[in-house]
Amino acid sequence: MSRKKENSGFSCGYCGSIVHPLSNGSFRNHCPVCLYSKHLDDKPGDRNSDCKGLMQPIGIKNNSRKGLQIIHKCTICDLEKVNKIADFDHQSDSINKIIELM
Ligand SMILES: [Zn+2]
Ligand SMILES: [Zn+2]
Repeated sequence: MSRKKENSGFSCGYCGSIVHPLSNGSFRNHCPVCLYSKHLDDKPGDRNSDCKGLMQPIGIKNNSRKGLQIIHKCTICDLEKVNKIADFDHQSDSINKIIELM
């Protein structure tokens, strides 16, 4: 069971949308509708954080090597994290929301 949990969908803590895992196996950690994330990891994917705070999208960064990234800030502990934007083929991130942040 724990294996399935690693990349299962979740319900967005901000807008309530059901967030599906990406079909290419990479891990989706934020909501494609409102771009909010959740503070679950200390290191990416480890699920070791006890914070569980909502992470607000506060900006967009253009990384020359990795492309566009979303900057998330935890609403509880103020931790900032940079996340890759999901590919635009499968349940892609909301382009309008991304543009709002730019
Ligand atoms: Zn959402
Ligand atoms: Zn936090």
